[in-house]
Amino acid sequence: MPPKPILIRVHPDDNVAIVANEDGLPAGAICPGGLTLRDHIPQGHKVALREIPEGASITRYGATIGYAARPIAAGSWVQESLVILPKPPVMASLPIATRLPAPLPPLEGYAFQGFRNADGTVGTKNVLGISTSVQCVAGVVDFVVARIKAELLPRYPNVDDVIGLNHSYGCGVAIDAPAAIVPIRTLRNLALNPNLGGALMVIGLGCEKLQPERLLPDGAAGADFPILRLQDERFQGFGEMVSAIMEMAEKRLRELDRRRRETCPASDLVVGLQCGGSDAFSGVTANPAVGFAADLLVRAGATVMFSEVTEVRDAIHLLTPRAADEEVGRALIREMQWYDQYLERGGADRSANTTPGNKTGGLANIVEKALGSVVKSGSTPIVDVLSPGEKVRRKGLVFAATPASDFICGTLQLASGITLQVFTTGRGTPYGLAMAPVVKVATRSALSRRWHDLIDVDAGQIATGAATIEQVGWEIFHLILEVSSGRKKTWADQWGLQNALTLFNPGPVT
Ligand code: CA
Repeated sequence: MPPKPILIRVHPDDNVAIVANEDGLPAGAICPGGLTLRDHIPQGHKVALREIPEGASITRYGATIGYAARPIAAGSWVQESLVILPKPPVMASLPIATRLPAPLPPLEGYAFQGFRNADGTVGTKNVLGISTSVQCVAGVVDFVVARIKAELLPRYPNVDDVIGLNHSYGCGVAIDAPAAIVPIRTLRNLALNPNLGGALMVIGLGCEKLQPERLLPDGAAGADFPILRLQDERFQGFGEMVSAIMEMAEKRLRELDRRRRETCPASDLVVGLQCGGSDAFSGVTANPAVGFAADLLVRAGATVMFSEVTEVRDAIHLLTPRAADEEVGRALIREMQWYDQYLERGGADRSANTTPGNKTGGLANIVEKALGSVVKSGSTPIVDVLSPGEKVRRKGLVFAATPASDFICGTLQLASGITLQVFTTGRGTPYGLAMAPVVKVATRSALSRRWHDLIDVDAGQIATGAATIEQVGWEIFHLILEVSSGRKKTWADQWGLQNALTLFNPGPVT
């Protein structure tokens, strides 16, 4: 028996739909409504619902994702080569704050068990983070972290983990170049992530360009922020360095061990959103469900951060109308323009974003990817815009400007203060962060089944009609509360999968 064809059209104006059937559909298949397929069409790929003349708009999400390179007959596979990339939206004429969504009713009564900090923030984990000012010390820090885990951590049962905040910055860079503010601010703010409980310490070398003092939070005194330099002449060899770092770490472990989870309102959550390995289902299953969950979080008073400039750029005309005011709208445009120039300096443009996997998954280009990506921001007003690595300032939906690169976006969102990340994926990635839990949401049920011990939520059920966007959205919301309370572990945390911190350094290297 041939499978019952399932096509997903997102918007009534669309002249293409995507094939939802797991094995795709054969030529000759007759779809609901009577359309006969002219080609075999793989899962996630687009079919022309009616004839599309050469040069006409190819429309998905009710928006132009490209123009037909030649006439496309109804029932044909709309392959990438048939889709000419449109020009990006013009920044000068974008409407700002013109379509502010009506406030959604507040969501009361949701809470989680978190670690409250002196500065009012709340962590979802209790982790000792050892800051570093330069890559030179990474090997020593890794050595010490392994010893702390083996020898000290078992004595402090309320502390979840110890991590070295190793990175590739700190020396051999133009430290006073304007763009150096990005990696420096990121390192400073990473140490202030709520999941690290304010137990600061930094390991430096001594002769590096990024002197450890530059990582001090504003107004902090040296005593609150112990600094140890490996070149300090009191150390006779490696063994003494290791002992000194262990001693410093143990003081911090003692402080962290006194922390206890307490009931905190859901408004204390700071949740980051990201996608990686997107496919054509991202915009119809996982991202709409995450968008629904984002609205629930905002209604509960929490902070939600979405990012990834190159995946937002081509949908910016849909976002500036949702900016809370003129200032937020201008800030959004400023971040887009900064990134346009950054790409141009590198001799690239926005088309550099899409990957071979995106294309195999049915995404023709960055416009189609962006339209599906911004859906995860839900429907509430955008109340603030953060430059890369800036600390979060407001509750509600915030755009935190970052590259789309999974590890860089993750690192920058941690610096901005997320305490949990929700990550959608179509192609599949084992991505995880050491500092905060990552809830992974698959766009397709086939991936959820195959990666049953890596994927936390199956949004693929939405494509087959087995669940609604609202149902999966609520599932994600409840899972966020469970994971934030330490009652449930994400698969990435279960296996200890952790990607390295990866700084965004737009400045020159020397
Ligand atoms: Ca990404």
